[in-house]
Amino acid sequence: MSISQEALFKIALNLEDPWYIKLIDFSVEGKQLDVHVDFDSGSKFPCANCGKPVCSVHDTIERTWRHLNFFQFKTYIHCRVPRTECKDCGVKQVKVPWSRKGSGFTLLMDSMIVLMAQHMTVTAIAEMIDEHDTRIWRVLEYYVGDARSNEDFSEVKSVGVDETSRAKGHKYVSVFIDLDKSKVVHVCEGRDASTIESFKNDLEQHKGSSENINNFCCDMSPAFISGINDTFPNASITFDKFHVMKLMNEAIDKVRREEQSHNVLLKKTRYLWLKNPENLTIKQNETFGSLKNLRLKTLKAYSIKLALRDFWNQDHIKTKISNGILEGTNSLIQAAKDSARGFRSTKNFIITIYLRTGKLEFNLPT
Ligand SMILES: [Zn+2]
Repeated sequence: MSISQEALFKIALNLEDPWYIKLIDFSVEGKQLDVHVDFDSGSKFPCANCGKPVCSVHDTIERTWRHLNFFQFKTYIHCRVPRTECKDCGVKQVKVPWSRKGSGFTLLMDSMIVLMAQHMTVTAIAEMIDEHDTRIWRVLEYYVGDARSNEDFSEVKSVGVDETSRAKGHKYVSVFIDLDKSKVVHVCEGRDASTIESFKNDLEQHKGSSENINNFCCDMSPAFISGINDTFPNASITFDKFHVMKLMNEAIDKVRREEQSHNVLLKKTRYLWLKNPENLTIKQNETFGSLKNLRLKTLKAYSIKLALRDFWNQDHIKTKISNGILEGTNSLIQAAKDSARGFRSTKNFIITIYLRTGKLEFNLPT
């Protein structure tokens, strides 16, 4: 049994009647494959606006879509797309089964772009498929938005927030994480109290409720703290261990610097106090031994830091929150930042964070 190449492409493109392949044009020199799709004359189509099933064709418009490469051949689908005449809606362009409305790519092309963007930079994708990166960003923006519109935040109870920027000197974004699912649920520009309000609105647009939130983990920024207190009345705030220890180390260093100005014994001990005792080098250990019985403010500050550390290590503090789960998600955001070459805007940075850390379910053919 033989099958015509037109029929073969009809199956490959998943086309059903009244659509058929009229012509396939292989250009070996141009390294291009052009597939011309048409429809049986006299066909009726549903109205793209109201869905009324059998509308007559009013006229047609020539359109072209980029499809997956056929081996190394750039592949395009061409079609005269019918516009139907609907009694209620007037003249409307028919929805074709191989592409979403307004897109210059086929659905399978969209699918490949979204899949690749979870592992590759957009710049690399643009180079690979030989398309302008803004076209690729538009595809990603659409699918991230579409997947986010179906998100259900009704179970979100524990939230962490942290700030980051795509590069030094660029605008900050605040990233909100569902700590139970370890997924990013909201990203917005800024790092002030307004970001808390922005998160609350997003939560409520996705079946969540500010009253459900009983844990909020953040750094010690007064803007976040006051924002959370005002907006999430049932949330207790936990300071992220990582951030608290960072502040503690800064405080110790300040004490040491002051004391060092009138006590030469403390010269060159900066790194000793930033470490835990079990991590000291042999030399640092000797220095510590020679200092530990002196009455030094730096020693006192250091012992407060160790007490604070012990507090976190106690068995009854089992909340995932206090153990710096944000650090894990930070590494995901860092991965998104590492692929930052080619971000043209904060908007694209936000799209990438959702794409890579949002655990979104994309509505795409496979
Ligand atoms: Zn209609």
